[in-house]
Amino acid sequence: VDRRAFLKTTLLGTGVAAGLSVRPLPILAEEASAPAKGTAMLKLCSQDSNIPGKSVKEKTDNILKFGGAALEFGGLDVGRARQIRKDLQGTGVAVAALCAGYFPLIDPDPQKRQEGVANLKKMLEAAGEAGAGGVIVVPAFNQHPQLEFDEGRKVLVDLLPAVGEYAVKCNTRVLLEPLNRGEAKFLNQLAPAAAICRDVGSPGIAMMGDFYHMAKEEKDDEAAFLAGEGWVHHVHLASRARNLPGQDNRSFVSGFRGLKRIGFQDYCSLECTVKGDAMVEIPKSFEFLKQQWAEAKA
Ligand code: MG
Repeated sequence: VDRRAFLKTTLLGTGVAAGLSVRPLPILAEEASAPAKGTAMLKLCSQDSNIPGKSVKEKTDNILKFGGAALEFGGLDVGRARQIRKDLQGTGVAVAALCAGYFPLIDPDPQKRQEGVANLKKMLEAAGEAGAGGVIVVPAFNQHPQLEFDEGRKVLVDLLPAVGEYAVKCNTRVLLEPLNRGEAKFLNQLAPAAAICRDVGSPGIAMMGDFYHMAKEEKDDEAAFLAGEGWVHHVHLASRARNLPGQDNRSFVSGFRGLKRIGFQDYCSLECTVKGDAMVEIPKSFEFLKQQWAEAKA
C-alpha cells in the first residue's frame, strides 16, 4: 500500500469516527483526533479575546465558522474552567491551552519561587478541569526579579520535575514559552527550552514556539522546531508585526515544514492583533495559513 494513500485513508477513518463519537471533551489535545503517530496536522485555534462574541457560546460558534478547532483562554480559576468545559461540551471545540504567563520560578527569593510553584499547580488544576492541553508559562519577563541564566536554569530544572508530575496527575502539561529578548532575556529560542525539557525528563514539562518571537530570535524556523522535537506541544501564530498571519510578509512555510517533520498534532493558536473586521480577516488568515501549510513539503 502506498504510504501516503494509507495515511490519508487512516486520517479519513479517524475523522468519521471522531464525528460519531459521543465522548465529551478530550483530556489532552492530541486525543482529539488520534491519527497515526507522526502524521502532522494543522489544527487552527485562537485566543478567545480575538474571536467576536459576547459569550463562550458565541465565540465557539464563530471559531467553528472560521474553520478553527479550539479556543485558548487566559489564566482561569477552577470554577471558571469547569464552566467553560461545560459550555464547550458537544460543540467539537476544545480548550487548546491556558495562556497564564508569568510564574516567578527563577526569582532570587526561594519563598517567591515556592509561591510561583503553588500558583502554577493551581493553574494546572484549572487546565485539567478545562480539558486544556497545557498551561503556557514564562519563568520571568525582563521587569521581574530573576537569577542569572546559569543559576536560574539550575533552579528551574530542580523544581520542574515535581511540577511535571503534578501536571501529569491533572492530565495536562506545562508549556514553556521562549520570548524575544526585548520581553524576556531568560529564554529566547526553542533549542534551549527543549534542552530544559530534556534535562527535566517529565511528560508534564513541555514547550511551545511563537512565530512572532521566532521571527526575531531564530535564524531558521524549521531547525528551531526540529530542535524541539518531542517537546513542542503548542504554537502561537502572529505576523512579523504581531498582526494576523498574512497581514504582512512573515512566511510560515519553513516553520510549518519543521512542524510536519516532527509530526506536530497540537494546536496553532492566534495570538495577535486583528487589523480590520475579525469576521472577514480571521477566515482570510486561516486560508492563508492552510496555503502555507500545503506549501511546506516535509
Ligand atoms: Mg506567545
